Amino acid sequence: MPVAQTPLSTALLIDGELVAGEGVVEPILNPATGQVLTPIAEASAEQTEAAILAAHRAFAGWARTTPQQRSNLLLEIASTIEQHADAFARLEALNCGKPLHLARKDDLSATVDVFRFFAGAVRCQTGQLSGEYVPGYTSMVRRDPIGVVASIAPWNYPIMMAAWKIAPALAAGNTLVFKPSEHTPLSILALAPALARILPRGVINIICGGGENVGAHLVGHPKVRMVSLTGDIVTGQKILSTAAKTLKRTHLELGGKAPVIVCDDADLQAVVEGVRAYGYYNAGQDCTSACRIYAQAGIHDRLVAELGAAVSSIRYAGAHDADNEIGPLISTRQRDRVSSFVERALSQPHVECVTGAAMHAGPGFYYQPTLLAGCRQTDEIVQREVFGPVVTVTRFDELAQAVDWANDSEYGLASSVWTQNLDKAMQVAARLQYGCTWINSHFMLVSEMPHGGLKRSGYGKDLSSDSLQDYSVVRHIMARHGQHL
Ligand code: NAD
Repeated sequence: MPVAQTPLSTALLIDGELVAGEGVVEPILNPATGQVLTPIAEASAEQTEAAILAAHRAFAGWARTTPQQRSNLLLEIASTIEQHADAFARLEALNCGKPLHLARKDDLSATVDVFRFFAGAVRCQTGQLSGEYVPGYTSMVRRDPIGVVASIAPWNYPIMMAAWKIAPALAAGNTLVFKPSEHTPLSILALAPALARILPRGVINIICGGGENVGAHLVGHPKVRMVSLTGDIVTGQKILSTAAKTLKRTHLELGGKAPVIVCDDADLQAVVEGVRAYGYYNAGQDCTSACRIYAQAGIHDRLVAELGAAVSSIRYAGAHDADNEIGPLISTRQRDRVSSFVERALSQPHVECVTGAAMHAGPGFYYQPTLLAGCRQTDEIVQREVFGPVVTVTRFDELAQAVDWANDSEYGLASSVWTQNLDKAMQVAARLQYGCTWINSHFMLVSEMPHGGLKRSGYGKDLSSDSLQDYSVVRHIMARHGQHL
């Protein structure tokens, strides 16, 4: 099992065998230092094909297992991850630059819980009643697996995103080809030997590679029946157009630009603590990040002042990792992208830099936690996902205006409203067009509740029993038996 001091696992998992990639060799970096951790050979076209065919062969047998059998294997995966959680957390910290204590406390705990949740959920699914809808015929509904699922993951929470995709797909009886982000394959490759041991041959295959070659190969393949992506909107659009050719089911979890509506009567201290934590967590590389504040006129100035002070106290890039609260961006490209968003925002006279707005001077791909005030609804920085440690503040007078602005977005994933008036909170929550609205909180996810977007944030739900439905199909069985009794 993985221990960061021992050689890193770089083998792919294809048809139950751990094999070296035979495709392009890419360096895997530690974004906290910029140093190469290891080269990884991606899957060749032949290996990608072999992975798909292995999943296809394994499907008939896996689909016939009982929920109890699948549940037991998911529980075994969960226990294995839990037993080696420190080592997996070290890999997440190395490959993403995350503070180790946060990777261990948050990412690994959630990963284990997701496998356990789906192990339980698949055994207590409910559905429609069977019955006679034509005299002499009994109709019943089955929920069956779909087939081979290609799961394509992003880099922000590598092992947790893998769990979100793998657990419900396997629980529902599908087989998989899983492709991690080309930036962050280390934790799932470290899990691959255990998956090979626990699961029947071919049920899960793990291959590395870039989106345009390995990813596109998976999406275009006729034997892949479903594609599940967590990623950028543009990637979702490309996948949809390729998947259309073979009419695949798609499950898309795309970007976000979460509005945070702060009313005059909000608990200011709670808002400051909440946004300091949930606007900057994971260096803002989170699709639910609390990044777009609408602050009512009566609280606006105090909020900007207190939040600015709080954000400037966020600890990062320190030599003592246990003190760090956020890590770097995943790559120089992502850091430069964040930086150019902020530069363009600040080139407008009405935008004020409260704190941050610069790259970190030392090694690693860090960007200073940044708070921008005076932003307007039509500004690019208010409209587009930055995916970095950047939060904007826009002032509003009437609550109806804030709700309209919050909804005036191509995104529809997460949102929050902060007020001590529950009537007001409930009315705002009902009007927001987002997959999730938190009241006096932000960012909290639980395995039991659905997570997913509206509008260009995609569709399809992760977590919860809704996800099991997305990874299965409804079928009607009708039996003619006459009416002889
Ligand atoms: P990305 O879209 O660049 O990459 C995601 C995955 O898609 C990677 O594995 C990549 O290799 C693959 N890919 C890229 N092009 C492809 C193609 N043409 N065909 C097949 N696969 C392809 O996204 P990213 O930069 O890794 O992640 C950041 C994005 O993910 C952000 O927009 C973020 O909001 C989003 N995200 C959404 C959620 C959610 O739950 N909605 C969660 C996390 C991240």
